[in-house]
Amino acid sequence: MKNSHTTLPGLPGETPIALGIDIGGTKVAAVLVGPDGTVIARERGPVAPQSNQSALDSIFAVADRLLESAPAARARLAGIGAGAPGGVDWRRGVLTGATNLAWHDLPLGQALSDRYGCYAAVENDVNVAAWGERSLGHIIMSTVTSNSADAAPIDHLAFVTVGTGIGAGLIEDGRIVRGKRGAGEIGHIPLLDNGVLCKCGMSGCLEAVAAGPAFGAAGRDAAARGESPRLLELAGGDPAAVSAVHIIAAAQEGDSAAQRLLGREGHYLALAALICWRMLDPQLIVFGGGLSEAGPPLFDAIWANVRRLRPHGPDPATYILPSALGPDAGALGAAALILRPEPGFLAAGLVTH
Ligand SMILES: [Zn+2]
Repeated sequence: MKNSHTTLPGLPGETPIALGIDIGGTKVAAVLVGPDGTVIARERGPVAPQSNQSALDSIFAVADRLLESAPAARARLAGIGAGAPGGVDWRRGVLTGATNLAWHDLPLGQALSDRYGCYAAVENDVNVAAWGERSLGHIIMSTVTSNSADAAPIDHLAFVTVGTGIGAGLIEDGRIVRGKRGAGEIGHIPLLDNGVLCKCGMSGCLEAVAAGPAFGAAGRDAAARGESPRLLELAGGDPAAVSAVHIIAAAQEGDSAAQRLLGREGHYLALAALICWRMLDPQLIVFGGGLSEAGPPLFDAIWANVRRLRPHGPDPATYILPSALGPDAGALGAAALILRPEPGFLAAGLVTH
């Protein structure tokens, strides 16, 4: 049975190319992607978020360089997808604003469409990464044939990003779950009765104890208290220099304080996974973001805690997986908004020049 992907109206030619842009707080990464998800070219540069105009200029600079580097692909450009942090009015292609970033009601979709003469789609960065994992990352091959053209996307997926913050992009029945203004803020569920104040104004949030900065801070505290000589050694003798990478390395070497911190992190992220499971009943729960790059030691800790908390469930290693797209999830997911359009965009969210 052949799976036919929904396509945009009026795509030029048989082999459309999409440009995907991942906009962060400090940098812009962009990729040109072929119809099968292959990266043709990539480019990156700093973002200047001080104003709407400076942000646009820095995004254009990266996209211009990328398109100039691949003129043949430029001629087949079907559209541009972009993901950005904070509030996004995806129907209008407008970035409404984000903490620490000064842009406000930035009409990015229209600006991209006008400048490059193609479709544009703009979405929140975590939703974009979830869409990328669903459309170009974790796909189920048809049981009938091993032909990659028959690969079917996952229709129920939770993507949990663990980096400077914790959040989830949720895919339900092949659609992005958006809520009223922004669904999936699982980092700000006040799970813990620990009195730790979160930047969102509540206390006991998962993000305040389990995001990358909190994990690193716990390691620095342990080193400063003299609990882990090995952690201190890895950080060059300076407790203030201890990072998440050092904690994971020390834990793998058998350091008991670092193993305790990694085990606690695994417990917190297991809670995040189980919240997604109970709320959405997804086929897959995918972890991405900077801290997830720690790889097997972190996933072993997550899986061990899920096995403990859900002893009669399926093996968590079969449904809780690392990102298939890794650091490219944002840019590839943005391209996937064009190559494998999300139903909402087909109905209402594509900006045209
Ligand atoms: Zn919070």
